[in-house]
Amino acid sequence: MSDQAFVTLATNDLYGKGALVLGTSLRNHKTTRQLVILVAPQVSNNMRAVLERIFDEVILVDVLESKDSAHLAMIKRPELGVTFTKLHCWALTRYSKCIFMDADTLVLCNIDELFEREELSAAPDPGWPDCFNTGVFVYRPSIATYNELLQVSTEEGSFDGGDQGLLNSFFSNWATADINKHLPFIYNLSSISVYSYLPAFKQYGADAKVVHFLGKVKPWNYSYDPTTKCVMRDGHDYSSVVHPEFLNMWWDIFTTSVLPMLTEHGISKDTTSSGNQELSCLVYALAFTCGLSFCRKEEKLSEAVSQLSFAPPAPVVSSEERRQKWEQGQADFMGVDSFQNIQKKLDAYLN
Ligand code: UDP
Ligand code: MN
Repeated sequence: MSDQAFVTLATNDLYGKGALVLGTSLRNHKTTRQLVILVAPQVSNNMRAVLERIFDEVILVDVLESKDSAHLAMIKRPELGVTFTKLHCWALTRYSKCIFMDADTLVLCNIDELFEREELSAAPDPGWPDCFNTGVFVYRPSIATYNELLQVSTEEGSFDGGDQGLLNSFFSNWATADINKHLPFIYNLSSISVYSYLPAFKQYGADAKVVHFLGKVKPWNYSYDPTTKCVMRDGHDYSSVVHPEFLNMWWDIFTTSVLPMLTEHGISKDTTSSGNQELSCLVYALAFTCGLSFCRKEEKLSEAVSQLSFAPPAPVVSSEERRQKWEQGQADFMGVDSFQNIQKKLDAYLN
């Protein structure tokens, strides 16, 4: 199977960390295919040395940028202009078929069966399901396709400023032409879907094969305490937290397999400091425990939360907004939804 490969991309060391976790997860699940990573010149030599321990090929590419700040502003992701760099994956013609995976994905089991699919197979995007999400896709390297894509990228650009808009315009009949090219959603389960359709996640989430930490906040933006196995983040932004066990799995692989290699190669421990955050950790754990044990009573839980009467002076948000924020994992843990407040309200509620 040396002519088939999993391919990912890192334009900097942070995404390099993601790629190392992805590569390790593919190896842990005994893929029989090659592992290839495209790296930009900004990726440090030390990081490249570590990547070479996991990936069969580390290939240097130049960064392709859309420079389309107007469309990128619409998706609030100015950093995604560089995702045009992904297009280089079509130039890997020593492989007959590949699966591209974002550096913020993690495989939970062997997914080699995806090589039975044809170009362009991908899973629906949770935001607009008639578009495919470009975090996981099956494709055939080809210089002809590569050149066409580069031409479209300069002449027409992308409707969202990133690779996903461009590739959806290029493979424009994906939504209607061939159902075999629709990968089941479990091959690209995105963080957002856990909150936007919680009952479906509870029904099907256990079947997930690939988790995608889609969104602005990535696993490496959190910190982790390996002794308590608790993932934490300063401040209030929990927007990209998938069900916490997935985030924990990412960090578990990172601390046990990736971090020792990074340390050996002199790469700093910056994203792993746990700090003194036991309280927010506890609140976080409690919030999820409540969320899980109340299961089909989310509305009651959020109603209970929205009626908290101990709120400190804070920007006024409607109970509906608060409910939404809570369901998206963005509770105001330092303020109105603090541990103390939740505990008091739950005591009252349970009594
Ligand atoms: N990427 C990268 N550097 C960046 C931004 C993105 O290397 O600064 C690569 C990386 O492989 C990443 C992919 O492009 O997984 C797509 O970006 P991201 O995952 O951040 O987008 P999202 O899935 O959140 O839409
Ligand atoms: Mn991604």
